[in-house]
Amino acid sequence: MLKGKTALVTGSTSGIGLGIAKALAAQGANIVINGFGDVDGPKAEVAALGAKVAYHGADMSKPAEIEAMIAYAAEQFGRVDILVNNAGIQHVARVENFPPERWDAIIAINMSSAFHATRLALPAMQAAGWGRIINVASVHGLVASAEKAAYVAAKHGVVGLTKVTALENATTGVTCNAICPGWVLTPLVQKQVDAKAATQGISNEDATKLLLGEKEPSMQFTTPEELGALAVFFCSPAGNNVRGVAWNMDGGWAAQ
Ligand code: NAD
Repeated sequence: MLKGKTALVTGSTSGIGLGIAKALAAQGANIVINGFGDVDGPKAEVAALGAKVAYHGADMSKPAEIEAMIAYAAEQFGRVDILVNNAGIQHVARVENFPPERWDAIIAINMSSAFHATRLALPAMQAAGWGRIINVASVHGLVASAEKAAYVAAKHGVVGLTKVTALENATTGVTCNAICPGWVLTPLVQKQVDAKAATQGISNEDATKLLLGEKEPSMQFTTPEELGALAVFFCSPAGNNVRGVAWNMDGGWAAQ
């Protein structure tokens, strides 16, 4: 379905981004991977699906590096047709204890990077008459949790950016939508499970049950594969007039 199209997925060396990159690759898209850590492993996983793969190591907190990445993707494959703004980090602390530099980093990586990548990728999509911008927000783009001030602020911001981008392009073939996952068992959440186990002196298994039980009525994690399938839907012809939605895949979290 996506043969000849190019998808740039930020933060795709791990977790949800890698899951979405693989789902788009399985539909025939060329993939530009981004993120830190091991690159060869994720690249090989995507290439194994028959996709052409390139990698750019832009730090998503740096607008000049984001600009270089969009230019690199265009150089490699012509243009970016599908932009998935996914890179993100977390820090947990009460507002009065929240380190200002962690606030700045989360706002930059989780929110401002989506603005920069979007503004830089849009012109080529508009010129081509087709484009898909998919923002990986969070259920925390819709509701809050204590001790996640920067994350919740950034994700609510991403949902707002999604709506504005969708509206400004509503008469074109360019759509913009957000995906709002509940808990997904990636390194980002594993750290929170580990912290819970350590502070409460309980096993990893009990900490996992506690984490899910606090928020997610289904008592099960959403998977990167499920989120990848939603991204594929947004890119399908059936998604042509889906504009500005924030679609949760959260096991009922926000329905409470
Ligand atoms: P993860 O830690 O597995 O992956 C994060 C990715 O972002 C990695 O590839 C990492 O290298 C990259 N990254 C981090 N900082 C970066 C930077 N400055 N520049 C470029 N890349 C950077 O986490 P994940 O759980 O897969 O999270 C992906 C997205 O999904 C995030 O935006 C997160 O907020 C969101 N999300 C996650 C969950 C969850 O439960 N895991 C739930 C809702 C939303």
